[in-house]
Amino acid sequence: MNRVFNFSAGPAMLPLPVLEKVQEELLDYKGSGMSVMEMSHRSGLFTDIITSAEDTLREIMNIPDNYKVLFVQGGASQQFAAVPLNIMKNKKADFVNTGSWSKKAMKEAKKYIEVNEIASSEDKNFTYIPEIDASKLDPQADYVHITTNNTIEGTVFKEIPDTGNVPLVADMSSNILSEEIDVSKFGIIYAGAQKNIGPAGLTIVIIREDLIGRAADICPTMLDYKTHSESGSLYNTPPTFGVYIAKLVFDWIKEQGGVKAVQQQNEKKAALLYDYITMSDFYHSPIQEDSRSLMNVPFTIPNRDLDAKFIEEAKKNGLETLKGHRSVGGMRASIYNAMPLEGVEKLVQFMKQFKEENK
Ligand SMILES: *Cc1c(COP(=O)(O)O)cnc(C)c1O
Repeated sequence: MNRVFNFSAGPAMLPLPVLEKVQEELLDYKGSGMSVMEMSHRSGLFTDIITSAEDTLREIMNIPDNYKVLFVQGGASQQFAAVPLNIMKNKKADFVNTGSWSKKAMKEAKKYIEVNEIASSEDKNFTYIPEIDASKLDPQADYVHITTNNTIEGTVFKEIPDTGNVPLVADMSSNILSEEIDVSKFGIIYAGAQKNIGPAGLTIVIIREDLIGRAADICPTMLDYKTHSESGSLYNTPPTFGVYIAKLVFDWIKEQGGVKAVQQQNEKKAALLYDYITMSDFYHSPIQEDSRSLMNVPFTIPNRDLDAKFIEEAKKNGLETLKGHRSVGGMRASIYNAMPLEGVEKLVQFMKQFKEENK
């Protein structure tokens, strides 16, 4: 077996102990004689899995009792429509535009409601998180939407904006569980699982109870939060294997010492990489210092002709998927929770060597 360090932005690395546990339990889950994949979602064993997944997530994220946790499908992209369809009243919302995913969220919401862009960092190619001018917040807005971590651009909100009585909705796909957050500041948090939680196909929604049960008439049953909330995410067949792996990942985070410990490790990993980039005189981070993501680290080499060579040689060294997003170029190292410190050390080592050979 030859496991590589996979810097993919998503689907991304999973913790090795989780994969080993899955392998161990694959053919005969807890004496049932079957795999979790083959098991009824209404069976006792699966009920235990989904209950435990929710309990552990609540514990590690410190989710208040007046919030529901939903396990749904459709990816974060489906939430771009689900949110307005569920909570539109005045049919308008405020959006902070911090990059490609924010834009997609706005484009989808526009089909149902009026979208107001109250702040944007597009003027500088989304290389920073813009200030929100409080006077621009519409007190009549149904919600304010932010993308907490911008996977493609490599920025993160270091402070969660205060939106007063207007619910704050966050796409947290690429930084959920990477750092401690105060859930009570949000109305809705949603995240596709494939970055920091588990396999693609599972989407997590954390929603304040008062935002459930007010969906528009045209909201499809499967997008209505009430459907999933009332049925314990078992209205129809949930992505059972994804929920099972998510449960194992939540257990793993707890074993690491919880989100706080994982955050410290993430800060260490990101610092190692950013510090080297800063002092290298060869690599460059396009991101403003106060907005740098702990999860997705884009960097460039002044001579763009070297990009392909860098990526190819990195791969030969067991460092995979370092190509930057096509809209940004250069390189991007995604260093989610499951990326060990050793992977980042090896990357920095390789970067030093590559610099010596190509400067
Ligand atoms: C990956 C990603 C998405 C898209 O997620 P899907 O689950 O593929 O729909 C949306 N927003 C952010 C911030 C992402 O990183």
